[in-house]
Amino acid sequence: MSHECIFCKIAEGKIPAKIIYQDTDIVAFHDINPQAPVHFLIIPRKHLKNLLDVKDVDAYVLAKMLMVASDIAGQLNIANEGYRVVINTNRQAGQSVDHLHIHVLGGRTMEWPPG
Ligand code: 5GP
Ligand code: ZN
Repeated sequence: MSHECIFCKIAEGKIPAKIIYQDTDIVAFHDINPQAPVHFLIIPRKHLKNLLDVKDVDAYVLAKMLMVASDIAGQLNIANEGYRVVINTNRQAGQSVDHLHIHVLGGRTMEWPPG
């Protein structure tokens, strides 16, 4: 998928991003158009379109994404005040990049329910 997928290209280092953390399974980087004072994304290196693509074999990587989200939230000082994790799935929910990613947002008060 890397020939057409922007997040595969970020994971492969073929286009630049402000990387916060990476390992053999996942990459975390700052969103290019932040919607909060802190807004970063975490992706699996494996190309999955969205949550509907996730299978049993991917469970470990999904859990790691969530745990690393917590670790980075702590490092970026948004954990105590509060942060939000969002996974947009398909168009009506706002998914615009078809490579699974979790948004982590913090540093401001969040509205509920979201718009
Ligand atoms: P979605 O709308 O699919 O839930 O989220 C996609 C997110 O990716 C958006 O928040 C958008 O700003 C971000 N994004 C899109 N292209 C790039 C890029 O090239 N680099 C980075 N760092 N973020 C991107
Ligand atoms: Zn991809």
